[in-house]
Amino acid sequence: MNTSNEIKPSRSFLLRLPYDCDLLQELNRVCSENRVTLGRLEAIGAVRSAQIGFYDQINRSYEFTTIARPLEIVKLTGNISLKDGKPFVHAHIALADRDGSMYGGHLAEGTVVFACECLIQSFDGPPFERKADTQTGLSLWAEA
Ligand code: ZN
Repeated sequence: MNTSNEIKPSRSFLLRLPYDCDLLQELNRVCSENRVTLGRLEAIGAVRSAQIGFYDQINRSYEFTTIARPLEIVKLTGNISLKDGKPFVHAHIALADRDGSMYGGHLAEGTVVFACECLIQSFDGPPFERKADTQTGLSLWAEA
């Protein structure tokens, strides 16, 4: 099945996230505050520590890894849709340590910002609502 809709760019926000905030919680808060219910985001910066997830496709659950040291945000990319009627950020993050070694995965709560510059772009279009998907065990897009 293919779930697709035509969308049009509407509002855009450039923002600097506060020191020591939880990266994912802050992105969700900003989207809720600005009523961004459909959109995309990207960011660069640095974190004091990171919590990233990997989805085990056999066991159908996320495994989380904590990297408790400073890392560069090489790239954070994600989207915004609705889950349980509220803006929901789904983001993946690529991180580098001092040697340039990379880590990456599904951005989880517990990632602490050192500095972060973020672009959030809102779209006009039919809403996408996340619903339980029996094939993957994930919460995926379905037309609302
Ligand atoms: Zn993910």
